Amino acid sequence: MFIDLFRKTANDGEVKFPKATEALQQRLGASVIIDKEERFRVSFDGSKLSFMPDAVIRPKNHDEIGELLRLANEFKVPVTPRGAGSSLTGSAAPLKGGWVLDLTAWNEIRVDEVTGMAYVQAGAVIGNILAAAEKVGWFYPPDPSSIRFSTIGGNIACNAGGLRGAKYGVTRDYVLALKGFLPTGEYVEWANDLRKFASGFNLRDLWIGSEGTLGVITDAVLRLIPKPQSRWTYLASFKDEKTGLLAIRDLLATRITPSILEFLDRESVKCAESATQKEIFSGQAGRPVALIELDGYPARVAEEREIVLAWGEKHALASKEASDPVKEEELWAVRRTCSGAMFELGDTKLNEDVVVPLRSQVELLSFIREISAESEIPIPTFGHAADGNFHVNIMFNREDPGHRERARDVLFSIMEKVIELGGTISGEHGIGLAKTAFLRMEHRPAEVEAMQRIKKALDPNGILNPGKIFDVFEYWAQTPIKIRLPWDHK
Ligand SMILES: Cc1cc2nc3c(=O)[nH]c(=O)nc-3n(C[C@H](O)[C@H](O)[C@H](O)COP(=O)(O)OP(=O)(O)OC[C@H]3O[C@@H](n4cnc5c(N)ncnc54)[C@H](O)[C@@H]3O)c2cc1C
Repeated sequence: MFIDLFRKTANDGEVKFPKATEALQQRLGASVIIDKEERFRVSFDGSKLSFMPDAVIRPKNHDEIGELLRLANEFKVPVTPRGAGSSLTGSAAPLKGGWVLDLTAWNEIRVDEVTGMAYVQAGAVIGNILAAAEKVGWFYPPDPSSIRFSTIGGNIACNAGGLRGAKYGVTRDYVLALKGFLPTGEYVEWANDLRKFASGFNLRDLWIGSEGTLGVITDAVLRLIPKPQSRWTYLASFKDEKTGLLAIRDLLATRITPSILEFLDRESVKCAESATQKEIFSGQAGRPVALIELDGYPARVAEEREIVLAWGEKHALASKEASDPVKEEELWAVRRTCSGAMFELGDTKLNEDVVVPLRSQVELLSFIREISAESEIPIPTFGHAADGNFHVNIMFNREDPGHRERARDVLFSIMEKVIELGGTISGEHGIGLAKTAFLRMEHRPAEVEAMQRIKKALDPNGILNPGKIFDVFEYWAQTPIKIRLPWDHK
């Protein structure tokens, strides 16, 4: 089945760097895989843009990674580090071919129960890190929706975030140390299993969010926090987006920091309701909702619950609460179903993850509603309202040229608006290929040049994940391969 798809969709898999790949095979033996189907499997990521590499390398040890990078520099072969390949921006797709360095088998996890630190290899899956921590009373807070499959190497390389961002922060806030290789093949360790360091430049933080362009991460030490002891969930609906978002500002002003504060606009709610054939609140179909979770010590959660209930009385049209897993799941249904249900509105989704200051949330959402009405492009939007991070889902039909063009124009207008409001083009997914057209909207020439000088200094031959972040790529004009990925809704 998979190989049939490969035959239909990928290029013929012609090898671009035969001499270098042969030399690599001689040095690394069975770690170098040149089987076409295997190469096809790593030729794309969540973006579904496929570029065939010459080989997949599954290294057995650190020495093999060093050797691979030294050869890549000698023969000028592009190398793309890879975890689960769940990137939504094309950052893990081997745009220029070459070699894909697959670290998914590097998945060891050890938790130090006393210090609350996790020692993990790059391929460890986030959900497994969380489970290992929880087993001994600790907690790893960053929780991307890809928690069940994405790896810590990929999460660090993208500085992944999740629902708990406003209270607990993102991946960067939990990385104490990194080990790995410079693009030129030297082994390095940035910091150690220490809670403090002030020695030399902080290249650890420079690697975080560098999307596999500045180094290969092999190992990390993560900071854990004590596992929150109790949780309470609440769902409320509002008259419209403005009322809901202003109410959320009022809630935050009470000094409560919910562990989760998701806001779904009416279009997202309609998608969920149509998929489940059920109104979330009877008689209140298609109203925006906020999903709130409190966590922490039971006494504190109980106190905060009272504040949220009183707030709901004042601002919400209807509300429900839950404190057992079955009821919680019922409240979560709207958030879990809305994303997949959006494909009823178009066969293609441009999934943006912009962030704006809290003061600008209302303006952004009303701009999106207006532009959606004008262009007749549906744009269901939901997000992490306590940190201003919205998933703006521009839905269109790829085969319809008019639709495609309007979707592209809408995307540019939204990005311009986000920058005008003092926001950023990505809060979670990174730039990859998908957002390269907007990097220079957000950053001054001097800022982009400074980033490129750093890249040049660490990777003089430009071998590590080339073509990402800086080179403008017309993402929306590409044709993704027709393939169903494990996490696809339909
Ligand atoms: C259904 C779904 C939900 C998602 N939800 C979220 C979300 O809530 N929040 C969020 O932030 N993201 C989300 N994502 C995006 C994606 O899961 C994240 O970007 C994640 O960090 C990618 O991890 P990965 O292991 O799949 O990395 P990959 O996709 O394999 O790689 C991503 C990037 O990291 C680099 N990289 C990977 N491993 C290494 C390494 N060892 N050393 C150096 N560079 C490396 C790659 O070169 C690439 O640039 C979601 C994706 C899907 C499909």
